Amino acid sequence: MAMAEITVNLGSRSYPIVVGAGSLATVGERLRAMSLGARVGLVSDRSVMGLCGPGVTASLASAGFAMAEIIVPEGESAKTLAVAERCWETCLSTGLDRTSTLVALGGGAVGDLAGFVAATYMRGIHLVQLPTTLLAQVDAAIGGKNAIDHARAKNLIGTFHQPRLVLVDPRALITLSEREFRSGLAEVVKHGVVLDAEYFGDIEAHVTEILSRDIPTLERVIGDSCRLKARIVEADETESELRAVLNYGHTVGHALEAATGYARWAHGEAVALGIAVAARIAERLGLADPETTRRQIRLLEAFGLPVTFSGVEPSLILEAIGRDKKSREGHVPFVLAPRIGTHRLVFDIPEELVVEVIRKIQVEVPAGVPRR
Ligand code: NAD
Repeated sequence: MAMAEITVNLGSRSYPIVVGAGSLATVGERLRAMSLGARVGLVSDRSVMGLCGPGVTASLASAGFAMAEIIVPEGESAKTLAVAERCWETCLSTGLDRTSTLVALGGGAVGDLAGFVAATYMRGIHLVQLPTTLLAQVDAAIGGKNAIDHARAKNLIGTFHQPRLVLVDPRALITLSEREFRSGLAEVVKHGVVLDAEYFGDIEAHVTEILSRDIPTLERVIGDSCRLKARIVEADETESELRAVLNYGHTVGHALEAATGYARWAHGEAVALGIAVAARIAERLGLADPETTRRQIRLLEAFGLPVTFSGVEPSLILEAIGRDKKSREGHVPFVLAPRIGTHRLVFDIPEELVVEVIRKIQVEVPAGVPRR
């Protein structure tokens, strides 16, 4: 199948997202065609470098690029100032200059760190994203947001720095753990719920193919998700208003992660719970009908994502929501979906309503869904 190319239109910062099996192996020729400098820093963790590194380094080498490998810790532990400093050090010692490119090969954590380093080294060098998790392919690698963590809050220190190119290769997902893969599906569901009813219907109709990681299905589903995210980024590059719709399920999701020390749920699992809460809040406010809630819950369940939980006091969740950095002068915006494919930003949802919905979810345990 020919590779799909989606342009993120941002004037002089526009860039293509190329989606297709085998796209990772085209990185060298694509960079050469863009006339970027001859030096490249390849940022990855040891696991991903072992799995996807050989194809990428061979492609860069055969296109004539001089490469420095920058291996960083796996997962969230890469997103620290100390690791960023080590990366700046390697950039400097291997002669990367303003014409050079940092290539991020990995999940959202590697992408965030490499984006931050590329944005800050010499006030900004070229960045290419090669996302290898589902979450990174449909979400994190697109849009130029990057961050490292602060001891008191995740993603607190960061910039906007758009990549020059994003290559999305669904074949990379074959080695992803089942839990990571399913976790990424929460973001896919999110895109359908708030942005596109037809897309949501397509996902509902192809759960089996998606879960079996059928490559042509993934190419289509991921490509469509990238297209949806690209349109949002184009309309609101720096997340002043519209881009907040992508936080659907994240207000409560982030709060659940924070209240449980980021240890209990994978990010997508917490987002699934956040979607379950948001759907019920919309229904309870009379904005959405019960079928809209049911379709969201059914799809999350079909993907093996949690939609109920126990053991976290609603007051702890409310506290964490209050600390959310998305809050504006103390008001936390909730994204709600009046119908599948639509969204509305609602401020000042009464705390009692949030607590009521959380309590309801905590007692409901649908058949066949394990509590986590
Ligand atoms: P991750 O980057 O932490 O990676 C999870 C694990 O998957 C790692 O151990 C990694 O080695 C492994 N892995 C990656 N690709 C693999 C593959 N193909 N096969 C086997 N294993 C593989 O997880 P994630 O969910 O991709 O990203 C989460 C991060 O993304 C968080 O730090 C979050 O803040 C960030 N994020 C950023 C944005 C943004 O817009 N910048 C958006 C969403 C999330």
